[in-house]
Amino acid sequence: MQKIILTGDRPTGKLHVGHYAGSLKERVELQNSGEYDKVFIMIADAQALTDNAEHPEKVRENVLEVALDYLACGIDPKKSTIFIQSAVPQLTELTAYYMNLVTVSRVQRNPTVKTEIKMRNFEASIPVGFFVYPISQAADITAFRATAVPVGEDQLPMLEQCKEIVNKFNAVYGETLTEPEIILPSNKACLRLPGLDGKAKMSKSLGNCIYLSDEPDVIKQKIMSMYTDPDHIRVQDPGKVEGNPVFVYLDAFSRPEHFAEFLPEYENLDALKAHYQRGGLGDVKVKKFLNNVMQAELAPIRERRHMWEQRLDDVKQILKQGSATAREAAAATLHDVRAAMQINYFENWHI
Ligand code: ATP
Ligand code: MG
Repeated sequence: MQKIILTGDRPTGKLHVGHYAGSLKERVELQNSGEYDKVFIMIADAQALTDNAEHPEKVRENVLEVALDYLACGIDPKKSTIFIQSAVPQLTELTAYYMNLVTVSRVQRNPTVKTEIKMRNFEASIPVGFFVYPISQAADITAFRATAVPVGEDQLPMLEQCKEIVNKFNAVYGETLTEPEIILPSNKACLRLPGLDGKAKMSKSLGNCIYLSDEPDVIKQKIMSMYTDPDHIRVQDPGKVEGNPVFVYLDAFSRPEHFAEFLPEYENLDALKAHYQRGGLGDVKVKKFLNNVMQAELAPIRERRHMWEQRLDDVKQILKQGSATAREAAAATLHDVRAAMQINYFENWHI
């Protein structure tokens, strides 16, 4: 069996360091590992429209931004197929067939959907398209016969739903679809990076993000005004590191060499944390260190992004070619699905 990756992002804004930690970094490593036969990376504009139907311009404008963020992070169009979801209509047809295999109550139980409905104040009026997006995500994954899906932790329920659909489909119509496996970041802090405001998730929709495209002074300003432990008022007070986003970001991004370069008086992150917990270490010092770490991590990404911004026509060509490749792959799976369901009448009738 071929090893295939499918993953993607909603073009609802530029990508942030939560995306980088939770998924993008892993993707680039997997892409470069040489272990995968195919890598598909999808800009999920159709999914983004499910909760932005009245703001199509927001989605449209961010398609190229997300593509630029991908290229900036090291997604290589020679190794990965980057495509636009709505340019692959086969995904919509698959979604329609899969919808018959899932109950309303099953979708209602999806914890990520529940949280997102609350976050968007959709309780009283959920667009049907938004409600069924976990099913369309199963279509995206299975259309490419993905065996691995590198994503953040919030996507676990989507992968569970997808596996259920695969098993149900195969049980009813015969072995046709491939069951995917989720690949979560091995670093626990990256599973769900909190927001600058201390909220559970850095999210485009919450506006609590450091964007991959932020300029150095913006990054610094955001970090210096970050939420920390609210009970750590005076320098000598003992502080909490658990759930303190400054330390979670350090868990996610700092490496031993950063200490040698920027904060040599501490051997490593454990030593810094111990001092903070004991008391006597001020937030400003920790934030300045975090700023140095983030600047070092993001500078090469921003430089590559500026380079691709000068080559927008090439970026558009990459998306056009990628979408054609993706269409072909999805069409082959759709053909198998229709054959398994025996709704390929004209082929069967040999006319
Ligand atoms: P939106 O608010 O529009 O849903 P988002 O910021 O949640 O945007 P998505 O496009 O929904 O971003 O998510 C894309 C990928 O990034 C998914 O794999 C998701 O798990 C991952 N991801 C998003 N936010 C984080 C985060 N804060 N920490 C870790 N991974 C994240
Ligand atoms: Mg999301």
